[in-house]
Amino acid sequence: MDFQYWNEHFEKMPRRELEAWQLERLRETVGHALRTPFYQKRLTEAGIKNPASIQTLADLQRIPFTGKQDLREGFPYGFLSIPREAVVRLHASSGTTGIPTTIYFSRDDINRWTSFVARCIYGTGCTKADVFQNMITYGLFTGGLGFHAGGEEVGMLVIPSGAGNTTRQFRLMQDFGTTVVHATPSFLLHVESKMKEEGVRRDSLALKRAFAGAEPYSEDTRRRIEELLAIDVYNSYGLSEMNGPGVAFECQCKNGLHLWEDGYIAEIINPDTLEPAAEGERGELVLTVLCREATPILRYRTRDLTGFMPGPCPCGRTHRRLYRITGRSDDMLIINGVNVFPSQIEEVIMAMKEVGNNYVIEVEKDGVLDRLTVKTEVTPESFMDDTRPLNALKEKIRHTLQASITINPRVELHESGSLPVSEGKAQRVLDKRAKDV
Ligand code: ADP
Ligand code: ZN
Repeated sequence: MDFQYWNEHFEKMPRRELEAWQLERLRETVGHALRTPFYQKRLTEAGIKNPASIQTLADLQRIPFTGKQDLREGFPYGFLSIPREAVVRLHASSGTTGIPTTIYFSRDDINRWTSFVARCIYGTGCTKADVFQNMITYGLFTGGLGFHAGGEEVGMLVIPSGAGNTTRQFRLMQDFGTTVVHATPSFLLHVESKMKEEGVRRDSLALKRAFAGAEPYSEDTRRRIEELLAIDVYNSYGLSEMNGPGVAFECQCKNGLHLWEDGYIAEIINPDTLEPAAEGERGELVLTVLCREATPILRYRTRDLTGFMPGPCPCGRTHRRLYRITGRSDDMLIINGVNVFPSQIEEVIMAMKEVGNNYVIEVEKDGVLDRLTVKTEVTPESFMDDTRPLNALKEKIRHTLQASITINPRVELHESGSLPVSEGKAQRVLDKRAKDV
């Protein structure tokens, strides 16, 4: 394979040099942090009074973790380290798990962020000859403007289509010969269902690649999108606290996401003990941003579950790879005392070819017990008037799920296109136990 690098110097930087660069940037970032009200107090208490307190990368361990709650308490300006006049933009997290948090950018911050996104895009083989349709929410969500700027930086023709409205998306793809799209994996699956429904022929489209991220999805879901749409799908990971997209991305090997260690320091911790995870072990990802002056965030607990993949990548990049993120530690459902991650359910159902492109997980109280219901769509080919094969499929799903999660779920089959689709991140789990929803 011919690999192309946006910034070969940094992407292939020997580890020792990369670590020296990280140390320098960490010192600088601690300097920025000491100018924010929040870290002024937090770092001083930890005995870090100036950047020189950071002698080696190991000194990172002296810095306390920062959590989402801290960011909320610091709202609106507790994490701002430059004069308000030097801020050119703000973004906010989508608020999947509560009140949104705000991140500020200087002009240089935007430029640095953009070059990381460009690096990701270019690393999948895109060039300025590509036409890029950014089918994701614009606005406060970082996925829109982040990818938009990265795409322009690569020199692609960028179509800011935003999310939703599949009919219009198809028109744009056909009119301008879109070759690359960016969307959530759930929206890509929806696009494929709609293509069938609206009779859009695959050969009327020039699509080659998709960047899919912003929410967890399984390897089977990736394969499904790749096969149904006949494209290459690359996993894209980011979060607004760390700028947004461009934190970790798959290269053309599509085996793990390179975490850009010249822009971020990554640690994996055991979320219960908060101790570093053992080499190769999975746990919670903790990130420190090294490429942002306006809102420095140190040792941020992402809640995202992953780990470092061992060994080098054939592409020659020296930046370590993360395993596909399986979800957040706070996604875990406890059903009748058993721990279940939505990703376990997705893995089972998306591997079945009769299962359609959308599903919902519902948990409710049934007397003193919890009841799990998995609702999945069925492909149009499998949805027949004869109920016998459907009953057999239902039984097969129930049985396979039970074997995987040890809970006996109720399974409901729905016609393709009948379960609700969200334009942004998919709402897969409906937990009706906590409150009446
Ligand atoms: P919010 O935290 O409110 O959802 P963000 O828009 O910042 O706001 O979303 C970032 C989060 O989205 C990540 O922390 C992670 O949980 C999830 N995410 C983003 N990309 C991926 C991906 N490729 N795989 C799994 N999860 C992802
Ligand atoms: Zn690689």
